Amino acid sequence: MALIEIRNLTKSFGSVKAVDGVDLDINAGEFLTLLGPSGSGKTTVLRMIAGFETPDSGSIKLNGSDITYLPPYERDVNTVFQDYALFPHMDVITNIEYGLRVKKVPKEQRREKALNALAQVRLSGYENRKPSQLSGGQRQRVALARALVNRPSVLLLDEPLGALDLKLRQQMQIELKELQREVGITFIFVTHDQEEALTMSDRIAVFDKGRIQQLDKPATIYEKPKNEFVAGFVGVSNLISGAAAEKLLGKKGTFTVRPEKIRIASKGASGTVREVEYLGPATRFLIDLDAGAQLVVLQQNAEQSAIDVESLRGKKVALSWDKESEYQVS
Ligand code: ATP
Repeated sequence: MALIEIRNLTKSFGSVKAVDGVDLDINAGEFLTLLGPSGSGKTTVLRMIAGFETPDSGSIKLNGSDITYLPPYERDVNTVFQDYALFPHMDVITNIEYGLRVKKVPKEQRREKALNALAQVRLSGYENRKPSQLSGGQRQRVALARALVNRPSVLLLDEPLGALDLKLRQQMQIELKELQREVGITFIFVTHDQEEALTMSDRIAVFDKGRIQQLDKPATIYEKPKNEFVAGFVGVSNLISGAAAEKLLGKKGTFTVRPEKIRIASKGASGTVREVEYLGPATRFLIDLDAGAQLVVLQQNAEQSAIDVESLRGKKVALSWDKESEYQVS
């Protein structure tokens, strides 16, 4: 049995259908990401699981019990928000203890649990700082510790790394994933960042227009996107369709070939290099195929000298890829 069972969940705000018939099973211990563009409904789904929003119809079960209409504090879930929501006047340890104090856990136990949670987020020694004396990443860790101390079955994370700069964000991605493995709590993570979703998740639910477009493991989402939306939102879509598909692939339909699967070769589909972008470890080319499609090609700068790649701009080239890299999206 799944830990969370969501059935036919819908929610409108006025004339906007924010969530439109979502079915989703989430397993115990899983790191599940809700990924989608702004306005696709992922936050509204998270808020309905948390209890901050009431669905128009459908149901949510946790551990077999219906929680659809329970108030937030009666659900065995905790939420971590992007803006941390720490109490500014309380020091770190008091912030972490807060939930336990509300639950009337005795003082000594409270302190011990809070110190454990602080150690889990690698902030031992910071107990008496105020939130204003912490960096963004440290504040986010305190917010995590404050949620973890309650030992919820499920932790809901709404773009928790959104306010951090890129380096810190990448570091926190690794730490957060490690922490989730350590504590074994189910994480439901909302993000619009596809790379973040690919690196952290056990499974990803890709949202668009209030619906789940695909629910799969990261590699399946990337390698076998179910439709054009998923192909374009997760990675570069690189679509070949219509006459170009018939000519180049000998097939009818719309296909995607991921940029790193394509080689610039001496034989293959001919085209003209429109753009060259030198990225350091790799170079990205934008190529207009004579048959009509436009493809992005990513080449590792492993062997050939990358110094000269710029000279390819405007030149005729041929592209080749393995048959199994063509994936039909419609
Ligand atoms: P973002 O990444 O921008 O948070 P999202 O995918 O999480 O986007 P939601 O926040 O779930 O999307 O919003 C889905 C739709 O519902 C949007 O069109 C949004 O404007 C609308 N919406 C969400 N909350 C409310 C609200 N409280 N009142 C009115 N409309 C809302």
